[in-house]
Amino acid sequence: MKTLLLITLSILVTVSCQPEETELSSSRSQKSVSELDAYWPAGQAAFPLEVDISTSFDNNETDSIRTSADSWSDAVDNRVNFFDTTGTITEKGGSLGSYQDGRMGVYKLTSWPSALPNLALAVTQIFGLRKNIGKSNESIEISHADILVNYDYFSFSTNGGGGYDLETVLLHEFGHFLGLAHDNSSQGTTVMYPSVSRHNSNRTPLQKDKVAIASLYNIGGVVQAATAQRSIAAIGKVHEEDQGDTEWVVIQFELRADGSEWIKVNDKYVQQNKKCKH
Ligand SMILES: [Zn+2]
Repeated sequence: MKTLLLITLSILVTVSCQPEETELSSSRSQKSVSELDAYWPAGQAAFPLEVDISTSFDNNETDSIRTSADSWSDAVDNRVNFFDTTGTITEKGGSLGSYQDGRMGVYKLTSWPSALPNLALAVTQIFGLRKNIGKSNESIEISHADILVNYDYFSFSTNGGGGYDLETVLLHEFGHFLGLAHDNSSQGTTVMYPSVSRHNSNRTPLQKDKVAIASLYNIGGVVQAATAQRSIAAIGKVHEEDQGDTEWVVIQFELRADGSEWIKVNDKYVQQNKKCKH
């Protein structure tokens, strides 16, 4: 990025580079758990989700978090208000299990839990019921989620200054919060690409993201019918049928400082989306 040579090399590498997915353990289903459709039950009636923001964020940070949450509603032309982020909550301590409580939140952690790697910038933790295991309509019904941001080891920026762009990070994390999986197709076409760069700010859901979120919750009128067709029928079916094995799952999407993302299901790493080295 500093010299012409570096810029040239960087472009070459970026163009040829795809995130490499590594399966770290076998799974009973064909799909990785992290690739499954996940959703809040009751469809649009589930919203707005009350997500409180920890009081330790300053006003600018709180504004950035609210803006990133609102961006998902903007993505569906405000036909659905996904999040109510007006509430606040006190920062919690170390135990990860303590987050499975009655309140969902975005937490600024100045004391990062020892159960999480120091290298994780932010973690979205989702609690849900994995249904129809091993079947084609396998999915995850989300019951609780939280976002933890690692201010113990990293700094974040709200104005393009030093540190990771808080709004960019939170936009991606709120996508997971709503149930969106990663889209590996290409950086620059989706905010659900499984890596976030320190130097990029990507604060608005893109067309593919709009299609994905509208499809997930059957929000009509937002996207061209043809493009939305992807999963409206499939998702509707997934939401209704329940005919297989179930298990409770805790999924942690760990966004790491090198831009890679590691995914843990029930305390076991199942997938790593490596960012190629530039
Ligand atoms: Zn992610």
